[in-house]
Amino acid sequence: METATNPEVPLEGSPYDLRVSLGEKVSEPNIRSALESGDLGFVHSFTTGSAVDGPGVRIVAWLAGCQFRCVYCHNPDTWKMTNGMPVPLSRAVEQIQKYRHGLQTMKGGLTISGGEPLMQHRFVLKVFAAAKKMGVHTALDSNGYLGVRLSDADLTAIDLVLLDLKAMTPDLHRRYTGVDNQPIHQFARRLAAARKPIWVRFVLVPGWTDDMAEVERIAAFAAGLGNVERVDVLPFHQMGRFKWEKLGMDYQLKDAKPPSRETTDEAIARFRAAGLQAF
Ligand code: SF4
Repeated sequence: METATNPEVPLEGSPYDLRVSLGEKVSEPNIRSALESGDLGFVHSFTTGSAVDGPGVRIVAWLAGCQFRCVYCHNPDTWKMTNGMPVPLSRAVEQIQKYRHGLQTMKGGLTISGGEPLMQHRFVLKVFAAAKKMGVHTALDSNGYLGVRLSDADLTAIDLVLLDLKAMTPDLHRRYTGVDNQPIHQFARRLAAARKPIWVRFVLVPGWTDDMAEVERIAAFAAGLGNVERVDVLPFHQMGRFKWEKLGMDYQLKDAKPPSRETTDEAIARFRAAGLQAF
């Protein structure tokens, strides 16, 4: 199997780096076998020192591949799995090993994000299992749609789920992402039944997701779960705009502005009014 990584592209980087075609030399059969075994992952990059992707200071693995098509996605280069770098499991584990002491000292851990990490759930589970063995806290940052791929036993390797909730109204969710939101709600309820902590992430986009009645619906759903420890309202920004342009993709939000402080505070207040800790 082809497992060599491109020597010119470092594994460490930022999710705002544009990365394309790094895994395109891996053949179809080898991609299938990687997905089945979890011994090879397609990774956009690893970031160290993140303070915004879970508790403490963390290392974040950004995986390639996503089945959503969010209109406000800031990493459209992660939609295609073969844009990611083929990284053998052993190399991903080494990466965590390198930082394990620092992560423990800074009460952080490993977050696997994307793209959508559950597109490569076997790789994710193997990396999480290795992290747990090292005593490193694990967080899955997911859109939740493929939660059904995780068994109850698999959930034990995950300490925290950062769950992206984008809209409650089904038509709005389809408009923003291209897909239905029922599987996400089922996964959230399963996590609640398993008493697995969730941190909700909600991207606030003026003109799109800033209808406060809809924010209240999301807040009511999240509060009803009983396992949501925290909500982060993430103000939309344009740092991903250049990726849409470079990839020649139609970006509907090219003129959208970040939300004002007042609108962000208003959304936070709606989550707090539902009894949630929101920031
Ligand atoms: S789920 Fe995340 S990575 Fe996938 S399209 Fe939406 S914003 Fe982008």
